[in-house]
Amino acid sequence: MTEAPLVQGWCPGALRPMLSGDGYVLRVRPRLGRLSADQAAGVAALALAHGNGLIDLSARANVQLRGVRADSHAPLIAGLRALGLIDDSVAQESRRNIVVQPFWGDSDPTLAIAADLTAALAAPDAPDLPGKFGFAVDCGLRRVLDGTAADIRLTRQGDQLVLRAEGSFRAKVVSPDTAAAEALALARWFLAMGGVTQGRGRMAALMARGVALPEGFTLETPVQAYDAAPGACAQGQLVGFEFGQMQAETLAALARLGALRVTPWRMLLIEGATQAPALPGVISDPASPLLRVIACTGAPGCTQALQPTRALARALAPHLSVPLHVSGCAKGCAHPGPAPLTLTATVEGFALIRDGTAADMPLSTHSMADLIARPDILTE
Ligand code: SF4
Repeated sequence: MTEAPLVQGWCPGALRPMLSGDGYVLRVRPRLGRLSADQAAGVAALALAHGNGLIDLSARANVQLRGVRADSHAPLIAGLRALGLIDDSVAQESRRNIVVQPFWGDSDPTLAIAADLTAALAAPDAPDLPGKFGFAVDCGLRRVLDGTAADIRLTRQGDQLVLRAEGSFRAKVVSPDTAAAEALALARWFLAMGGVTQGRGRMAALMARGVALPEGFTLETPVQAYDAAPGACAQGQLVGFEFGQMQAETLAALARLGALRVTPWRMLLIEGATQAPALPGVISDPASPLLRVIACTGAPGCTQALQPTRALARALAPHLSVPLHVSGCAKGCAHPGPAPLTLTATVEGFALIRDGTAADMPLSTHSMADLIARPDILTE
């Protein structure tokens, strides 16, 4: 038997934290997807002073402080504000839902466009978008964010800069100067076409209703797959973390190496680093089995979890040849899309789902002990 998870329809922010099993979860959205070394060190110190010292990286390139006490919220916000990491209002924070591809360089317009979009979304006349509605700015030489959740994408097709609505492969050619304004015009169109019901709505759901895009969306733009892996890149070193979580001390140590770009793959890009740091909890081996498993907080950290998740994921990781998502309930927060293998916690154990999401119909249900004793159950 599964229990229907509570759907909040919004994500935690810094100004509007969400209560979880281990205290409040407070989500920081680094501007342009980057923490300066001082900001990263400051976040680490604040996580220790006001939370339980655990820091998560989210699938939308945000940084979450866990275990925050209610009476710590005000001083924590003051500390984050001093670091330049807090918006003026909950509405501004909620709208500034932008994932920036982390491999930007001087020769591509990604950063400038993301800055324009950030400013436009902070303006008083910015569209009032639903909480989970987001943008991806992916204008480097290679597209890397097609697998990252977003409703409006500024990306590249061949040598052209294009705007695309999630759920459609037809894109509109834009220029670096008009990109942010065109993205906001598409967001306003989404609202005008009735994309929001009772405060919720996503672009893909609107497109699935067969709504025709405005004029100009004619360029075929197929999705491009990208698999992120730890290792060296032109901008520095990409490093991963078990379940995208680290101790504040690890973040403090990474901050001593340079500025950090936050990625939607639960990895950090250490700007300018020439080798991966040997730090506890840092994954630098692209073949690490731990990169094949995704698991949400699970019990007891999340009040909605029906089972613990991470011990099982850790135990099964060495036996996997394809990615496995272990979810504490059918909500599937850690990986909302389909995965080759998913184990969704139920009251009795774990439901096994192939090529589906955490909420899809299971093939069978197994206890944690059985799965650990016989991991071949997953591939039978
Ligand atoms: S998927 Fe995991 S983190 Fe999300 S609500 Fe369910 S148990 Fe909690």
